[in-house]
Amino acid sequence: MHFRTRAIHIGQERDPTTGAVVPPIYVASTFAQPGAGVWGEYDYSRSGNPTRKNFETTIASLEGGLKALAFATGMAATHCASMLFGPGDEIVAGADIYGGTYRLLHKVTARNQVRIALVDSTDLTAIAAAMRPGVKLLWIESPGNPLMSITDLAACAAIAHRHGALLGVDNTFATPALTRPLELGADIVMHSATKYIGGHSDLTGGVLVVRDQELFDRLYFLQNATGAVMGPWESHLCSRGLKTLDLRVREHCRTAQQLAEHLSRHPRVNRVLYPGLASHPGHELAARQMQGGFGGMLTIEVKGDLVAAKRVCESTKLFQLAVSLGAAESLIEQPATMSHASYDRADRLAHGITDGLVRLSVGLEAFDDLRDDLDQALAG
Ligand SMILES: *Cc1c(COP(=O)(O)O)cnc(C)c1O
Repeated sequence: MHFRTRAIHIGQERDPTTGAVVPPIYVASTFAQPGAGVWGEYDYSRSGNPTRKNFETTIASLEGGLKALAFATGMAATHCASMLFGPGDEIVAGADIYGGTYRLLHKVTARNQVRIALVDSTDLTAIAAAMRPGVKLLWIESPGNPLMSITDLAACAAIAHRHGALLGVDNTFATPALTRPLELGADIVMHSATKYIGGHSDLTGGVLVVRDQELFDRLYFLQNATGAVMGPWESHLCSRGLKTLDLRVREHCRTAQQLAEHLSRHPRVNRVLYPGLASHPGHELAARQMQGGFGGMLTIEVKGDLVAAKRVCESTKLFQLAVSLGAAESLIEQPATMSHASYDRADRLAHGITDGLVRLSVGLEAFDDLRDDLDQALAG
């Protein structure tokens, strides 16, 4: 079955008692059992809930995985994966990652004597050199955030496995409509479902997907023990979001490509970071690794300093000044003061996150309106 068909039918069977074509939302916190010490399929909603299970079944299918776990937020999902590791272990992460992941690894995971190293993940030699004894996890985002760096996931999987480590991929930006890391050898796929999966800026959620039962069992144990599960309402909205994921993502990609081309000719813009442009260093790799589009996220560097970039972010009318991404509404933000403010400034600059960067989440509005909005903001 094709991706779009699975998005609509797998895990979304009609209700056998009423024939409702959309499964009901199970709000119950607890489930009556057949006998004392005799357990039915569901017992308590932290441990399992039918509405959550439906969403997990669909996303596992779309990612080409075995099973998935849904969480209250993306950070809860990443936190769960990080809890697999303990004293003496090391996590190597790409340098171009979500600010909150940087903070979680350095300021929470590191408290448990897990060493953290950042590496330029576009440089395979640097990754291989970072895989010292004790490294248990390589954690990558592609496209990276906010520089839209493209990382060779199949090569990363080979390097990680050669050193006995797992490869985890935060697939929030690409979505399974464009990239399926498990098929390229990754062990764990993570999503902030808050973004493209939900797709409408009206929920928070997170997901882990794996292809190995033993790894699933360890993650399920941690999720159930710590409890940051996705609620039934969010699970329903995520299932609904998945039905249009492919359609939405293709349209986000189309408009982002047009805007990237327009902005790359704009006199007030120094550079445009978008993997769909031939000038992007990861363009050829992205054309192989991303199927049929380059994503809906793009970053520009405006001429001038922090203040000039701040002024552009504050001058758009359709692009709303907000963190987050992946929804119908276009958003604009300044990484240095917003999404990546939780990086230490030195790390930010060392990794090319300059003060003039402006990150755009291209929504589903008409291209002409978005272009005009950016033009007037840049002219200001
Ligand atoms: C938003 C985001 C996260 C964190 O997810 P939350 O749902 O906000 O907790 C992680 N990774 C990426 C790439 C994100 O964009």
